[in-house]
Formats: sequence, structure tokens, C-alpha cells
Amino acid sequence: MAMNDARSPRRSSRRPVWHWVALAILAGWTATAATTPPVQNPALTPPAPEARGRDEHSHAQPDRVAIRHLALDLAVDFDRRVLSGTATLDLTWTDPAGTELVLDTRDLVLRSVEASPDGIAWAAVPFELAPADPILGSRLTIRLSRPAPRVRIGYSTSPGASGLQWLTPAMTLGRRLPFLFSQSQPIHARSWVPLQDTPSVRFTYEARITTTTDVRVLMSADNDPGAPRNRDYRFRMPQPIPSYLLAIAAGDLVFQAITPRIGIWAEPAMVSRAAHEFADAGRMMDTAERLYGPYRWERYDLLILPPSFPYGGMENPRLTFVSPTVITGDRSLVSLVAHELAHSWSGNLVTFSSNRDMWLNEGFTTYVEGRIIEELYGREWADMERLTARQELKSEFTDANRALQSLVIAPGALPDPDRHLTATVYTKGAWFLQFLEERIGRQDFDAFLRGYFDHFAFQSISTPQFLAYARTHLLERHPDQVRATEVDAWLYQPGVPDTAPATESPRLQAVDAARTRWLAEGTPHAASLTTGWSSQEWLHFLAGMPETLTAAQLRALDARFHFTGTSNVEIAHVWYPLTIRSGYLGARPAITEYLSRVGRRRMVLPLYRALARTPDGLAFAREVLASSRDNLHPITVKSIETVLAAAPASGAR
Ligand SMILES: [Zn+2]
Repeated sequence: MAMNDARSPRRSSRRPVWHWVALAILAGWTATAATTPPVQNPALTPPAPEARGRDEHSHAQPDRVAIRHLALDLAVDFDRRVLSGTATLDLTWTDPAGTELVLDTRDLVLRSVEASPDGIAWAAVPFELAPADPILGSRLTIRLSRPAPRVRIGYSTSPGASGLQWLTPAMTLGRRLPFLFSQSQPIHARSWVPLQDTPSVRFTYEARITTTTDVRVLMSADNDPGAPRNRDYRFRMPQPIPSYLLAIAAGDLVFQAITPRIGIWAEPAMVSRAAHEFADAGRMMDTAERLYGPYRWERYDLLILPPSFPYGGMENPRLTFVSPTVITGDRSLVSLVAHELAHSWSGNLVTFSSNRDMWLNEGFTTYVEGRIIEELYGREWADMERLTARQELKSEFTDANRALQSLVIAPGALPDPDRHLTATVYTKGAWFLQFLEERIGRQDFDAFLRGYFDHFAFQSISTPQFLAYARTHLLERHPDQVRATEVDAWLYQPGVPDTAPATESPRLQAVDAARTRWLAEGTPHAASLTTGWSSQEWLHFLAGMPETLTAAQLRALDARFHFTGTSNVEIAHVWYPLTIRSGYLGARPAITEYLSRVGRRRMVLPLYRALARTPDGLAFAREVLASSRDNLHPITVKSIETVLAAAPASGAR
């Protein structure tokens, strides 16, 4: 799944303190984490071959019948917060005697189900909607007398649909029009369209979307900047996509071009800032095409969403969704765009066939992102990002989550795909590819990857399919470079294999030395030690602090660097947990403001985790959530509630 929250920014030396990079959860990470030996654990049993083909996160039976085209005709009702209309499915039956079509749904209100032999004559057919599974939603079983080529479903979404967020005008920048956006990955498409919600099925789509307000509607399709804003929009997506890349947004959106095929969609007050921020997108595209072959999706546009977007970015094809939290004014967080753009090859073009193989999307994408960053901003910068991510990876591993530490997740080990270990699939996956690159040699490995993207273009594949291709086209051609047992260790064992290539960063080592000195000698902090630091270095400085600091130390840092109240979510999501763990109540008002404004999951969960450790913190967290939940995406609310419910301090409540 592309819970691709911002991974890594580029250097910026102009205003160093405020240029913060993306890091995930840093809880438990200390300055010594970098030298902790890799975790070595007993091997997991690789999944049985018969289990590999089935997507356990979907009710669908794509081995019998598969959607090949979807036609949506939906009305957007902002007052009732529902989409309503029809979804027409064109089907390919591999079972010639098939009389049952099983679809995924969640909280949909069904009006009618009809089948047609020709798309002209329609007849109602019986259907059953099973009771809802808390994670998978309701199985919809449609009974047919013969394998119908076309089925049409009349339905409405529910106001609480897990894949949609509805914002009032007051929650937008311009405060003039309401806003709607979707987040289908990993399994939320089923909350707004009845379909086979599995990445193993790919389909083309078209849509007609009507609205009652003067919003502009966009989809992960052929958005036309010149189309009139007339409450009636048509879309076509001619390249086959998996359901999790189905996307819609509507709001007061305008367009500004960056290059002839790249542009920004955003609210009027945001569009030129965003275009300035992402001005390097064209160079990123050129680099990716040179390395991995032509971009196959025609246009590449970026849509800037409101701050409640639960992720840093989402690689919806032709229209990457981006959190405004990466727009800092100084381009320090633009590698998020490198990441989302990289998905145009890894993920969108060659797609995992089940969420248990998520590393095929995110590991490859993080590797490609690193290569783009290296080409644009240099090896030193890319290595600093890699090292930072790897320290985070080690902090993610615990005895309790060993089953999720292997790149390939065993059947049954991941009940809810919203709960992947993200550093594992992103960072360990990319690290594995760097291991292969270093053993094989960059030139041959680049040629292999380019061939891989070409060979599996517009297909959904499993790890065994990747492995079979890699054996023939890479490993057997370099028989002395990589052993099969080494590859198996990466794919099927927890922890980090001892074959993992090491990366050094003298700049981060200097930060460690500066932190050690500051902790030993106390305040004031010598300005000369931090002059010219990049965001990576600042974040490394803070993240390597002890579990708690004294109030005097925190006050000294605030006086010198003004961390409390920062408008930068990257610093906030590391600084505030440190203040919470240290009992530094002076930051509370700023924390309240922050948690009410920001809905990006990765940037708020570390605060809630820290708060949930004490009864007082938990009570405060519940208060803040109660007052801000209407501004938050359902995915974010669910994640926060999970954290608070698991809190040791939560008692019987
Ligand atoms: Zn991603």
C-alpha cells in the first residue's frame, strides 16, 4: 500500500532550523541505535504456493471472473455527504459456467442490481449483502443465471465512508466551497464503489460526475484544465489500474502548469506556492525516464489537498495527491514528489497482487526515489537519507512484530492492511534492492530494473513472480555474486540480514558528536556547531536525544531554536513527543493547536502514542480528539482510536 508518507527531503541550507525532513516514528530510537547489530531471528516459513495467489483482504474471486472496465455515473451531494448513482462493471469470465459474482463493499446502500447480455436490455437479478466484517466490509454476492458480460449496481455511499472525506467550506483554505477527496488504498475503494477491491484485478474506467455546487471535480484520469466548470464532468482512464488507484476530488480547484505535461491543481490561494515548491518535478521526471524507461501515463499532475489528508502523498495515477504539509516555501521536502513520481513505474505500472507483497510497491519505489534524489542532489545527500531511514527501521522492530518484519508477509499475519510496518516495506525493501545493486553492479542492475518494469508493465504480480524473473534475468547471469539463501533471508526472515550494505554519513556523525557535547556541557548551545545544518541533520539531532530531557534543557532548546509552535510538521512530530515524555507542560497549548489542524497520520500518531502513556496525557488526548475529530479523516480517527484503546493508561474505559 502506498502509505507513502513523505520519505525524504533534499538539502536546504538557507534557513536550516526550519527545514525538516520526513521521518516516521522515532520512539525508542537513541543515539546508539545506529550501532545496534542487526536483529537475527529464526526463519519464517515461506508461504505455501497455493496460498500465494489468493488475496485474503478481498472477498472477490478473480480466478473465476474479473472486472475489465468500470463505468461510474455518480452525483456528489455535499449536503448529505454521499455519492449516489450507478457502477457498471464489464466482466471477463474465466469460469464458463459462472453464475455468481462476488464483490467487496463497505457501508454502501444498494438500490438495485441488474445484469445485461448486451448493455442495452437490463434485468434485475437477486443479490445478498452479508453482515459486515469489521476489516473487510460486506461481501456482495450477485446471483446470475449465466455468465453476464455486464452488471449494473445502483447505490449510495454512507456519510461515514472510510475512503471519503467531506469538508465544509470553513475547513478549506478559501472558505468558499466544500471539498471532497478519496483515499482508496489499501482497501477503502469498496466504501465508495462496489467492486473487486484487490490489486490483483486491473480495469480501465470512465466516469460521469455531477455536482450541485460550483466545485471542480478531478479523478485519477484524464483531467482537462480547459474543461468548463459546469457541474457535469466526464473522465476516462484508458490504462488499466487496480482498485486502490481509483480516486476522486472536488473543491475550489484551479490549475497551473509546471512543464507541458506536469502541473498543479490546488485551491487558488495555494496554487502558485505549490508550483514554486515543486518546480523540480520536470527534472525528476527526466531522470526517472532516463533510468527506467518512458512515463506511460501521459500527464503527471499534483493535487494539493487540505491539511486533513491522512498521508504525505498518494500516487493516484496522473494525479498524485499531496499533503500541504510538505509545502514549506523552500523546497526542502520535495523528495515526496520523487517518491510519488517513482510509483508511476513501481506500483502503478508493476503492481503487487496482494497487500502481503506491499514491499514490491514501496521497497522498489523507495529505492527509485533514492536514485532520483542521488541524481538531482548528490550521493552524500541520498546516503544521509538512507542512513536516517535505516535507524528508523531498527527502532520499528520489536519482539511482538516479528511476523511483519519479513518483506513477504505470511498468510494470516496481516489481518488489517492499514497496519503494515511501514519502515519494513519501504526501507528494508529498498535496502534489499541496494544489496542486489551493489553485488551485481549498478549498470547491470539498472538494465535489469528497466527490463522488469517493461516486462510486467500493467500487470499485478506476486513476490514469487518477481523472484522467478530475477532468477532468469539477474541472478543466473551473475551466479557468483548472490546466493539464493541470501535472497531468501531478505524476503522471508525478520530483522535485517547481515548481508545488508553499510552506509556511512560523516555529516550525521558530526551531529551525534554535537549532541553528545551539548548533553554533557549543557546550554547555551554553541551556534557554530549547528551553522549550515540541513533538515536531515536537525532532525537527527533531536531524534537522537535521550528518552526525556529536563525542563531546563527543553526551555533552553526552545529559547535557542523555537521548536514549540513551529509551523513545520516534521519538527513538530519529533519535538512534541519529547516534550510529552518529559512532562514539559509548556508545550500543551501548541500541541492542542497542532493536533486540531494537522490530520496527516504519520505526523500525529507519535504525539498520541506519547500522550497515551500516562493517565493525565490520555485524558488530554481524548479531549483533543473529541474537539478535532470532525476535522479529521476517518482513517486518521481510526488509527488514533486504536492507539488510545491500546494505551496502558486506558484502564477499563
Ligand atoms: Zn509509496
